Amino acid sequence: MVEKVYISYNNVHKLCQEAAETIKDFNPNLMVAIGGGGFIPARILRTFLKQPGSKNIPIQAIGLSLYEQLGDDTVVEAVGHEVVRTQWLDFSSEHTMDLIGKRILIVDEVDDTRTTLHYAVSELEKDVRAQAERLGRSAEETKFFVFVLHNKDKPKRAELPEDMMREGRYLAARTLPDLWIAYPWEAPDIEEHTANAVSQGNN
Ligand code: 5GP
Repeated sequence: MVEKVYISYNNVHKLCQEAAETIKDFNPNLMVAIGGGGFIPARILRTFLKQPGSKNIPIQAIGLSLYEQLGDDTVVEAVGHEVVRTQWLDFSSEHTMDLIGKRILIVDEVDDTRTTLHYAVSELEKDVRAQAERLGRSAEETKFFVFVLHNKDKPKRAELPEDMMREGRYLAARTLPDLWIAYPWEAPDIEEHTANAVSQGNN
């Protein structure tokens, strides 16, 4: 049987609470949650990032799907990996979707091969550049911070921007070995799932 790491809702909550202490220094004013795994962590983070007297940080959702495209070649190395957008930000109204000059927190549940995060960051950066050029606001600095609950300790297929890593704008609450992580929102039986998480010390 493949070994799995079980994570409870409690554990997700506590990891977000702990991470918020670090993310507060970045002081995000917008969250972009990568669906579906980023949605629940983003919502929990919002609770812990809320400053008294200031508004809740808005959360925008994007959807990305990573699929393996098998080519004609049967050699395993010939398998290509491509990210497709299933949902993206709506830039049709620049009043409601202004990313320029913002501090944007990107949230996902797991950094596995890093392909999805690389795609999200590079595409969002491109969108901001295009929007800023269109509006003559290229002088304003937009910053991205990536948060994931778990990073898997393994060779990555893609990178995140060098300045993001150098400036500590990447945070994984925990780094785990390369095993399948079972999150509570996918559990067919939440009682059994939580019991497994408790027995592994992930509650
Ligand atoms: P990537 O390889 O691009 O870093 O991750 C792609 C996506 O695969 C993740 O956003 C996540 O939805 C899914 N994924 C990768 N590893 C795991 C895992 O261990 N558990 C779960 N539940 N999803 C995973």
